Amino acid sequence: MGTSDERQCGDCTLCCKVMAIEALAKPVGRWCTHCKPGRGCAIYAGRPAECEAFTCLWLADGLLDQRWKPSRSKLVVTTSEDGVEIRCDPGSPNAWRREPYAAEIRAWAEEGERNDMTVVVIIGQRMILVTPEHEFDLGIIGPDERIVRELDGTKVVGATVVRATELDATSDVGGARSTG
Ligand code: SF4
Ligand code: SF4
Repeated sequence: MGTSDERQCGDCTLCCKVMAIEALAKPVGRWCTHCKPGRGCAIYAGRPAECEAFTCLWLADGLLDQRWKPSRSKLVVTTSEDGVEIRCDPGSPNAWRREPYAAEIRAWAEEGERNDMTVVVIIGQRMILVTPEHEFDLGIIGPDERIVRELDGTKVVGATVVRATELDATSDVGGARSTG
């Protein structure tokens, strides 16, 4: 968990459920054993560096309004070098389909298509690539796997999952781009 001058995690602890914590071998989608849900971290002073460094987008800036507070939305939004990742509380797997979230996610997908950025909804280990016209439900994607998009111009017309080690071969395919 992180902090911000303007915003505080307060009663939110959702990242301690949805994120994987490598140092603790904590899987995605399950509460960290050190988390007191809704209250905070029992080992706060000695928490792993990756926890200390983590900040969700709602906490980081004022771009997302109070409706997006993760404890309320059940969604933890982060950015990656590929685009936007929306991690959904597996206990509320359809939270991202509610409004105002669904419309905003669609708007990010439209912007993403113009700027070669991906918008991925992550529910546990399941990933859904969202584009303006499609949802590519890619199922469970492991840490050593990547999403490869098939592009027609800037439009995503297909998406598959490949092992990261196979990427060199597939990235030569016309129009394919990888992410993940
Ligand atoms: S999800 Fe965001 S607001 Fe919630 S505890 Fe984590 S960093 Fe704080
Ligand atoms: S160690 Fe603390 S901050 Fe890190 S995931 Fe567990 S409860 Fe959250």
